[in-house]
Amino acid sequence: MKFLSTRGGEKVTGAQAVVKGLADDGGLFVPEKFPAVTKEDMDAMLEMSYPERAAKILKTFFDEYDEKELLSACENAYSKFEGDPAPLVRLDDGVYMLELWHGPTCAFKDMALTVLPHLLKKGCEICGIKEDVLVLVATSGDTGKAALEGFKDAKGVKVMVFYPSEGVSKMQKLQMCTQEGNNVNVVAVRGNFDDCQTAVKKIFSSEEYAATLKEHNTVLSSANSINFGRLAPQIAYYFSSYLDLLSSGQIEYGEEIDFCVPTGNFGNILAAYYAKKMGLPVRRLHCASNENKILTDFLATGVYDVNREFYKTTSPSMDILVSSNLERLLYEVSGRNAKLIKKRMEDLKKDGRYELTAEELKEIQETFDGGFADEEGCVEAMYDVFCDVGYTMDTHTGCAMKVAVDWFEKHKKDETKMVIVSTANPYKFPQDVLYAVTGNDVKDSFKGIKRLHAATAMAVPKCLKELRDKEPRFTRVADKKKLFEEVLEFVK
Ligand SMILES: *Cc1c(COP(=O)(O)O)cnc(C)c1O
Repeated sequence: MKFLSTRGGEKVTGAQAVVKGLADDGGLFVPEKFPAVTKEDMDAMLEMSYPERAAKILKTFFDEYDEKELLSACENAYSKFEGDPAPLVRLDDGVYMLELWHGPTCAFKDMALTVLPHLLKKGCEICGIKEDVLVLVATSGDTGKAALEGFKDAKGVKVMVFYPSEGVSKMQKLQMCTQEGNNVNVVAVRGNFDDCQTAVKKIFSSEEYAATLKEHNTVLSSANSINFGRLAPQIAYYFSSYLDLLSSGQIEYGEEIDFCVPTGNFGNILAAYYAKKMGLPVRRLHCASNENKILTDFLATGVYDVNREFYKTTSPSMDILVSSNLERLLYEVSGRNAKLIKKRMEDLKKDGRYELTAEELKEIQETFDGGFADEEGCVEAMYDVFCDVGYTMDTHTGCAMKVAVDWFEKHKKDETKMVIVSTANPYKFPQDVLYAVTGNDVKDSFKGIKRLHAATAMAVPKCLKELRDKEPRFTRVADKKKLFEEVLEFVK
């Protein structure tokens, strides 16, 4: 399988796509075609464990990787999870939660970032790369920690994470700043997530920076969802949840289902779209936003416009205005028109705006709906579900719940099964979740954990409980214009 840049002629192997992260022209790598997963494949996967299913999906894209090695990488990755890595929990008739937060850092980013180190290390071997790899990450909170944990102490790899100094939750910040490992670095950036992402992308696309790093025997790679190596393992859980519905007799083979996905950088929901392209029976994809509802507006009008206010919300991992992975969707619905994508991305950079054609919008709307939750709507949805069925969810998932509930209200006769993707353990945002389910406000995160446990009796994950006694290792704050200096300092 070869991969193409969304912005031009570059064509690379899967290994190269993972190692490079971003194409030379600034575009994103997309598979040349979508491998078909047939009824026979699905039948075979029905009996498989989660790691086996994941390895099977990975192999369809990464055909130059060894199948046994992919399997052992997945087994190793998902052995770090508590129990089933992607359990499907029935909430109500036809409504399910796909819980993706049972991994080492309690957010769905672990689903891919526990596997990416293998894809990257093996990729370097396949490509004959001798230099050290520096994995650069811009994070809105959860990717940073998951990448640090995934790559810590990996040989020949260093990880450097940039996060918005005031744009992540206290737990997220603590998780990152206390990270252990001899190859990691964490720097806060004055600005928001979009500033971090833009600055990091700029480092990626600079030939001058690349040359400077080469002098220090270093090449760059990315652990953000711009890297196809992040997306591929995410496709697997959409298949797996469908297989679980099949094997428990809740659906019949071929029955189309809906997914509702809390969305920030458009990576998670794009993986669902890719799964559909590969043949998974998906009817609609509901794209859930918080008050930063640029995607809701875009899906309704075809106009993407970042000239708007930026809100800091209680779902910080969705506080994003420039959703990188949307570029991959645009590429598909434009008929893979790289020239047009390049122009749009230039327009976005220049004017903060671009607009789809009527045909493109129509094609997107055939699969996608957009909805959003304001802060109050999110709290209400979390509270209602907690009261009705005793299920506790985090604030990001709360946004998706609100969007799903709005859909149910509007489509009372709709019998299609809905899977709501649950992206973080509620204890990652203890004060906000506590407030939603009990109305209590506490100032301290650990007090929040204690009270939330009292209210819900849900087990507190050890990795969050432990944070209380850890000393922060990383306290640097940098100017967004000076991130490359920070990088150089780290690799020297
Ligand atoms: C990253 C994240 C999201 C958004 O996922 P994207 O792939 O960026 O759309 C949603 N919820 C949580 C908890 C996250 O960490």
